[in-house]
Amino acid sequence: AKNAFAQSHYYFYDSSIKDLIHEKHVLEMLLKQANANQDFFLVFQPQYEIDGKKLIGFEALLRWNHPDRGFISPAQFIPVAEETGLIIPLGEWVLKEAFRNIREINETYETHYRISINVSPVQLQSQKFMDTLLDRMRAEKISPSWIDLEVTEGAAFRQGHSVEAFFDHLRELGINASLDDFGTGYSSLSYIKRYDIDRLKIARELINGIHEEDSAKEIVRAIILMAKGLHLTIIAEGVEEEAQLSLLQSMGCHEIQGYLWSKPVPRHELEEKVIKPSLVNTRK
Ligand code: C2E
Ligand code: MG
Ligand code: MG
Ligand code: MG
Repeated sequence: AKNAFAQSHYYFYDSSIKDLIHEKHVLEMLLKQANANQDFFLVFQPQYEIDGKKLIGFEALLRWNHPDRGFISPAQFIPVAEETGLIIPLGEWVLKEAFRNIREINETYETHYRISINVSPVQLQSQKFMDTLLDRMRAEKISPSWIDLEVTEGAAFRQGHSVEAFFDHLRELGINASLDDFGTGYSSLSYIKRYDIDRLKIARELINGIHEEDSAKEIVRAIILMAKGLHLTIIAEGVEEEAQLSLLQSMGCHEIQGYLWSKPVPRHELEEKVIKPSLVNTRK
């Protein structure tokens, strides 16, 4: 027993783990000090219909530019923000920014683009989330049909019953809902049927291999068939290659998002690089 303890003791003080814990504390401290309006900003990744490349909306993605440390990836800081609860104020800031931007864009161009916003399971748990969402929506005077909330599969299944009610509520309000990163987590088909969602986002990890691995290709084909049977819209994320695009097209996938057609773009480049060229195309 003494030996076992010594081993686990040793394990916990392994230097790489110590570094990780240290890094987490540093991030937590930096997050607490951060000023959302100065250090954070959103980038917007276009989402397109696969046929005709019609622009349908943008996913809002959070960026953190720390004054001394430079860019810190959301993959690093979102988990820390979730653990510390800081995701609540940060998430509210994202909602406000995202809504303001989509209102400005849709007013300027007389369009109905959608804004997709990532919602963390921690936000979903908070009773206040729905109130905040509605307050922001009214304050920014935007139509519920412009909003799409992205919830990950993992988050949805961990929440169980409450998330079902959440999706029902969104439906009543006319707000869209997408299940994010589908195919990486629990992927239970029977659950999908229970959720009143609009769209399934097939995970980048699966899309990655479809042109090279038969297994990935067949899994994606099956997901698309299943989703169509349930009358869900299917969007593939992380599309980087022409070969992936044409396969997805042949499988009947509806929408795509990925570096092939556009990387996430800051607001000041969005109009010239994405919106105006797309408006010209549709008017032709
Ligand atoms: P996600 O919601 O699955 O977002 C898609 C991620 O894939 C983004 O990474 C995007 O930049 C990246 N991506 C898109 N197309 C391609 C492609 O063709 N190739 C490659 N290699 N990557 C592509 P990002 O921006 O680093 O965000 C990572 C994750 O952080 C997001 O995954 C999301 O879960 C989370 N996140 C980002 N912003 C927010 C936010 O405002 N709130 C919350 N709760 N989570 C956020
Ligand atoms: Mg997402
Ligand atoms: Mg995600
Ligand atoms: Mg995703």
